[in-house]
Amino acid sequence: MTSHFVEVEGLAKRFPAPGKGEALTVFENASFGIDKGEFVCIIGHSGCGKSTILNILAGLDQASEGVVVMNGKEVAGPSLERGVVFQNYSLLPWRSTLRNITFAVQARWPRWSRDKVIEHSLRFLELVGLQGVEQRKPSQLSGGMRQRVSIARAFATQPQLLLMDEPFGALDALTRGMIQEELIRIWEETHQTVFMITHDVDEAILLADRILLMTNGPQARVAESVQVAIPRPRQRTDIIHHPDY
Ligand code: ADP
Ligand code: MG
Repeated sequence: MTSHFVEVEGLAKRFPAPGKGEALTVFENASFGIDKGEFVCIIGHSGCGKSTILNILAGLDQASEGVVVMNGKEVAGPSLERGVVFQNYSLLPWRSTLRNITFAVQARWPRWSRDKVIEHSLRFLELVGLQGVEQRKPSQLSGGMRQRVSIARAFATQPQLLLMDEPFGALDALTRGMIQEELIRIWEETHQTVFMITHDVDEAILLADRILLMTNGPQARVAESVQVAIPRPRQRTDIIHHPDY
């Protein structure tokens, strides 16, 4: 028996080739675990399959082989227990900043009173430094502010697993640095279990308790652990890689 909160076992993903060619194997045999309350970053070259893994964890895509088990239950399809933050905010453009958050909080806890929903949502907006813009529409916010709203919304709904796919990829370096700090602050408050993709090694070292390195090649697997520079305690690097890489 395994004991991780999230258990990824022997995951493979193949895409059928157009026409009669061989299927594209993005990765095979990828196995790793995520513990409750852990902030895990996954890094790797563009195209190695990070988003594909994240989408499978989210239940938005299906594995060709293998399973994802969360809290003892196999992941099959999307669920409010898993929140996702993508690079391009995905806020509802016709709703105010606050409504974007209360809408999600209400869906998560349908029996909460209106006051409780608003109070809870405002607390998370404050945690990302966005008090004062509650009534603005997303189009009246900067890119960085929109991404902070997305992060506040995701944390406010307290999913059992929060998945983030390059959430700062579209932001300039200065804005990214500021939001990284907001993210650390909100994480220190909630100790949310996070699985985050980044292509920025420094970002992974800054944010993660543990880093998964995914290398190119179809035989992805957790092969070894390597210690890296440690700005936060308990950090180590697991390498998922091709033996020949
Ligand atoms: P990453 O996020 O690490 O940059 P992706 O997971 O997006 O990589 O993609 C991994 C590989 O799978 C890439 O080679 C990509 O072209 C391929 N791929 C992704 N989605 C599809 C799809 N729907 N059909 C065919 N190939 C795909
Ligand atoms: Mg990607």
